[in-house]
Amino acid sequence: MATLDDVSVTALKGVGASLAGTLAKLGIVSVQDLLFHLPHRYQDRTRILPVASLRVGDQGVIEGEVTDSKVVMGRRRSLQVSLRDGSGLIALRFFHFNAAQKQQMSVGTRLRCFGEVRRGRAGLEIYHPEYKVVSGEALMPVDDMLTPVYPLTEGIQQNRIRSLCQQALSLLDRYEIKDWIPESVRQEYQFLNINDAIRFLHHPPVDANQHQLLDGSHPCQQRLIFEELLAHHFSLLRLRREMQSHKAIPLPPADDLESALLAPLPFTLTDAQLHVSAEIKSDIQQMIPMLRLVQGDVGSGKTIVAAIAALQAVGSHCQVALMAPTEILAEQHWINFQQWLQPMGISMAWLSGKSKGKQRVEALERIASGEAQVVIGTHALFQPDVRFHKLALVIIDEQHRFGVHQRLALKDKGASGGFVPHQLIMTATPIPRTLAMSAYADLDTSVIDELPPGRQPIETVVIADTRRDQVISRVREACLEGRQAYWVCTLVEESEALQCQAAEVAAAMLTEQLPDLKVGLVHGRMKANEKSAVMDAFKEGHLDLLVATTVIEVGVDVPNASLIIIENPERLGLAQLHQLRGRVGRGSTASYCVLMYHPPLSQNGKERLKVMRESNNGFVIAEKDLELRGPGEVLGTRQTGLMQFRLAELERDKQWLPEVKALAPSLMNNHVIVNALIERWLGNNVQYGAV
Ligand code: ADP
Ligand code: MG
Repeated sequence: MATLDDVSVTALKGVGASLAGTLAKLGIVSVQDLLFHLPHRYQDRTRILPVASLRVGDQGVIEGEVTDSKVVMGRRRSLQVSLRDGSGLIALRFFHFNAAQKQQMSVGTRLRCFGEVRRGRAGLEIYHPEYKVVSGEALMPVDDMLTPVYPLTEGIQQNRIRSLCQQALSLLDRYEIKDWIPESVRQEYQFLNINDAIRFLHHPPVDANQHQLLDGSHPCQQRLIFEELLAHHFSLLRLRREMQSHKAIPLPPADDLESALLAPLPFTLTDAQLHVSAEIKSDIQQMIPMLRLVQGDVGSGKTIVAAIAALQAVGSHCQVALMAPTEILAEQHWINFQQWLQPMGISMAWLSGKSKGKQRVEALERIASGEAQVVIGTHALFQPDVRFHKLALVIIDEQHRFGVHQRLALKDKGASGGFVPHQLIMTATPIPRTLAMSAYADLDTSVIDELPPGRQPIETVVIADTRRDQVISRVREACLEGRQAYWVCTLVEESEALQCQAAEVAAAMLTEQLPDLKVGLVHGRMKANEKSAVMDAFKEGHLDLLVATTVIEVGVDVPNASLIIIENPERLGLAQLHQLRGRVGRGSTASYCVLMYHPPLSQNGKERLKVMRESNNGFVIAEKDLELRGPGEVLGTRQTGLMQFRLAELERDKQWLPEVKALAPSLMNNHVIVNALIERWLGNNVQYGAV
């Protein structure tokens, strides 16, 4: 039997060049692509709901009699129709309507409507419902199965795509969809034939388990979800293989340099640091490029582990690049590395987006000539005019803010002669295991699962900002006892300018209210040298209280600071809060974190702050964050498209991840299957596959 991926959508009735172009934007070229354009939701139009049972956000069918119909003026002119059934009253609102429609919905008419309930001026309302006039005595039947809802793009309507899918389904009788999942696997999981599953999902039969379909747990959906997760996993493994088909410069251990680094330090490495360091050491001795992710909670001491790795490159007369996502974090690394490496005679270069003019030209020259052995900076290091002499190792801090694509751009910055750099990725945001398994399938992972000895757990309290005065006196007491404190301002808007302004206002107020304390201010719009002057003053104890925007989120290390106040914590993600909180608890005194929220808190907000109060463990917090917010936000990869699935939802479908991970390697050598599944599920989205 012929397969449907050879049949163009233009074979369908009503699909000409222009519609085909629109469909192509959705990645739909063949009839098979159309069949894999699966409903992402279903609507239940199989029963008529009593109006009184409706809640905001519900979608459903209602039927009733028009009791009032009028044009109201308000901010936008609209037609407001009141509809009553035996149980209650609801308003329908139309912003676009014509005289005929107004006439049609006059008082006394029976209407059947479908739409989403929202809160409006007149109580519960439905905007622009689909509606039909119910005429005569005959009972109008409701649908006998769930209605599929398809993802759309501009230029194509829901009804259009529904009817195209119906047409495509009818072709399934003559053609078939190739099932790429091996027979043995299908049997193991009792998967249905793919053709049946597809048919079912586009057109669920009357007796389908509607509850399962609506929440994505139906066996037909799960079968395809498995396939989708497998395809994603393949794409990451293929990426890894591709990377590792290149050569890297082998970097033998640099024991002398390492002892020179560690000897003057006031501490010895933890077992976890030693262990991870050994893993890296053995990786980068190989000619195969290392692809390793180091996870470690805030304060677990990742920086020194990175420095040890860097020495291995320096010892082999190669270059290292260390990259951080923000200027301030990169600066912190710059300061640390300068302190550690300069006494050893190692030369360094700095490059950020703010490096301009002569300074930039100079840095670029020193990087290109190889004179700079260790290069530290922000994503500015990705820019095309940055050329290295002999780059053997790239260290990326806080990887989750960089996309896979950016990481790959570094491949080309490797030393000449076809070498690619080893990659070490460090993240302070612990990634839940489930996510790591699917988002980082291309990386080996190491975990620094131990904090240096003597760290005190941080006690977290949640307080409404109505008790601001109390909080301020607590700050005063702590500082008069010789402690130091942070005061962090957050803002909803992404606008850095507004956030800085808020911090300026807070700093002015606190200066006034705390006349006996020295208050400093640091925010992202200050010049680098101003910022570091303030940070230095705080570090050296010349300031008691540091008011800051979330720029201090990562990297700042002042062990004497033992109190942090975070304003409006409800606006931040849990991982970010955990990062911020990690600014304290670095010394040996007991530390406190005050989460000062603005009431009222939503239910979800309450739950999230409760997690912060109850846990100091980054992994627990990250798992909760995933549950409460979803993976896109947790990883910060919304924009990069890394984690976009069509059907799968990591939290709901996580039971498949270990299965997929176990199965993938055995199929990886079957290029036909791998390519077909990647093509089917990721289609044009795998820009990075083609290297
Ligand atoms: P993170 O993993 O959050 O990046 P850092 O590397 O900034 O942590 O380390 C946090 C602090 O702990 C730094 O002051 C660092 O010097 C210190 N530190 C690192 N390793 C140890 C250790 N083994 N014992 C004691 N302190 C350590
Ligand atoms: Mg760090």
